[in-house]
Formats: sequence, structure tokens, C-alpha cells
Amino acid sequence: MRLELSSTENCVSFHFLIEEHDEAVVANSKMDNTTFTFAGPVGWSIDECHPDHIALAAILCAYPWARDVLHLPFEVSERFSESFAGLRLKVEPCSAKIKPYVSGDNSKPGLAFSGGVDSTAALSVMPKSTIPIFMNRPQKMLTRTLYDKDAALRACDILDTIGYNVQVLDCDLEYLRSPIGFPTDLANAVPLILTATWFDIDSIAFGTVLESLYSVGRKEFKEYSKTSHYKVWWKPFAGAGIDLNFPVGGVSEVGTELICAKSKIGFIAQSCIRGTWENPCMNCWKCFRKEMIKSGLNLKEYSLPVMKKMLAARDVKKQIKLIPIKHENVLLFSAQRLRDKELPPSIASRLDYKEDLSALMKWYSPSRDFIYPSHLEATERNLIMLLGVMDEKDLAMIEEWSMKEWLESLERIQEDKRTESTN
Ligand SMILES: [Zn+2]
Repeated sequence: MRLELSSTENCVSFHFLIEEHDEAVVANSKMDNTTFTFAGPVGWSIDECHPDHIALAAILCAYPWARDVLHLPFEVSERFSESFAGLRLKVEPCSAKIKPYVSGDNSKPGLAFSGGVDSTAALSVMPKSTIPIFMNRPQKMLTRTLYDKDAALRACDILDTIGYNVQVLDCDLEYLRSPIGFPTDLANAVPLILTATWFDIDSIAFGTVLESLYSVGRKEFKEYSKTSHYKVWWKPFAGAGIDLNFPVGGVSEVGTELICAKSKIGFIAQSCIRGTWENPCMNCWKCFRKEMIKSGLNLKEYSLPVMKKMLAARDVKKQIKLIPIKHENVLLFSAQRLRDKELPPSIASRLDYKEDLSALMKWYSPSRDFIYPSHLEATERNLIMLLGVMDEKDLAMIEEWSMKEWLESLERIQEDKRTESTN
């Protein structure tokens, strides 16, 4: 694949030229458009941007479909180019003349901010100097979507009033893909990456939680440094001088809800992207999970009629049937704490899980390895103050998380059923 750039004032367009060996369709995602545009803050221009950062932004957008090499219309530093050693995609050309990016003495952490609970919890534990950047997706004509950014924009307004240097920057990179969405899970940081030099940013944070970083709640716990996600992305961000930073990587979805209930800015959070400000849709999977967690934590009164109504929604019906359910541990935690309430049968049937999951209310401290060192002290202090830290027993519960046996037993039951029906 080849990259071309065009720009006027504070706008830059990335054009991807597909080559023969590239793949336009991978799994369920198709490269539908080959151009996206980003608008930086007033006064910013693409010339302010370090070449390694432009290249990293391009890779986050083209990675699923590009093969072998991304040819750039400019040179990148050797440090950045070398960070792709061993990966299936390379960047060219590179030159010793390009000095790697080094942030200033008073550099700040950046956060790819979504307005949701996890992202707001991340901001709550990060230093006050953090710059949250919200990627504002323009609404295109002729596109029917349930997506509503009202709540996120209100959250940004409030952060601005409180004194955060919050940025709402337009970028349409989600239209590269069909179905519409981020080409890679880190692509929502593209506006932050492209303005890293402008704002003197030293690290790129996400609201990624324990369930996602360590696969807790999935089939089996996985140490993050051994995952393919780490192997692909950790070094390229470090090579670009803007390290990955996961402030709530050791915090469960249960914990991010607790942080938001306790922190000063927590009230701005809303995870539902279908409802409006303070008016979540109450029909989507996120709303259902958040309702369960809040009731489980006693942050909200449990209501069986509300639960039943949500369980009748199409999206929720589909998700609850999955085995395992997405973030199953979080639902189990909530179900355990709502044990004496009348639960809908689909939830009650999962209550035979014996292990005590109260550790999910605390911080999993080994995740400090994935918090940017310069801001670790402040972040750690906030995490301990708001949540407390897991003890030995809690750590073991997390690291021994496995649904393997249970899933295999389910497979055996199904296999037996199949054999019976064929006999
Ligand atoms: Zn919703």
C-alpha cells in the first residue's frame, strides 16, 4: 500500500493507494473508502507533526488491509522503522537524518477520550495535566446509524469548564471501513497522535480495562506482554516516542464504575452511544451491563421490570446467549451480589459459579508495567485511593481465571446430544 497526503491549513487528508498484494476484505471488514480527513486545532498544520507520528497514524488506519510494506511520501526515523522488525508490515523509507521524537521536559500524557465510563475512569486517575482528545466523527448523509455523540460532547464541555485542555477534533477515519468503525482498536487515538508534537504529549492512554487487557472474563487469563496485541503495537508506539499507557488496565469494569462513582469528574461518564445526555437508550448491551454493575454495587436500585424489559431488546437477547458472555466475570460479580433479589432466569442460571469475585472492586497492581513510568506515581496513588489494591488471594483469582473446563464440558454435552440424535 502507498500513502499520499494533501493538506490545507489545519486539515490533512490521507489517501491510501492499494497495490496488488494488499487485501481489500479481511474477515468481516472491508476497506470501503481509501481516503480520510483530519482537522487539527486552529493554527495547527501537518507540518507541525513528526513524520513518525504521521506514519503511525497511517498504519493504525491501514493495518488490516495493507500487506508487506506501507510506502510513505516522506522519511521516518530509524528508531521508528526498526520498531517494526519482526512484524508483518514494514514502513519505508527511513533515514538517519530524521531525529526520533522526544517529548519536552514539561510533557503531558494524552488520553484517547470517548466519554464512556472506562475512559472517564482513566482520566480520573491520570495527572491533572492530561489532555483528553475526543475524535469527533462527522455524520455523513445517507448513513443510517444509531450512533449519538451528544453525551460525549456534553462530557467534553464540562471538562473544558473544569479546566481540562480537552480537545474535540474532527476525523472521519471510521468511514474507511465497512461496516463503519475503527480499523484497529487503537485508531481512535489518531487525532491525539497527529497533535502529539503540538501539545507536547509523551504517552497515549486508552480506557482499556482488565477484561480487555488480560482476557479476564474470557476463556482464560492471558499476561498482556504475551498477547499478539502487545507484540504488534507496543514497540511502534515506543519507537514513535509516544508510549502506550493503560492507566485502568488493571481495573475491572466493576472498578471503573466505582471510580466514576467516587471521583469528581465521574458524573460526566456515559457509555451508551445510542442515547442522549443523561438518557441512555436502555436497549443496548452496554446499558444492560452497566445497569447490572450499578445495581450490584448498590449505586442504583435493582429493578426486575427494568431488567426484564432490557432482556427483551434484540441486542441484549443476542449477547446473553453467547458462551461465554462478553465480560462474563462482570455479570457473575453482579449476579452474586444480587443473589437475594429475583433475577431473570437467564441470569439466575449462571449463579452456580462458586468463586468469590469481590477482587474485581480493587486494582490489579501488576498492570503498573503498562502505565507510562513518568506518570506512574500519580496514577498509582489515585488508583489506591479510589479502589485499594488486590492482595495475594485476589491476584491468584485473576491469574487463575479460566472457563476452559466449563466450556469444554458444554462442548461435551453438545457432542453427546449430537451423537444421540444421529443414533
Ligand atoms: Zn444504550
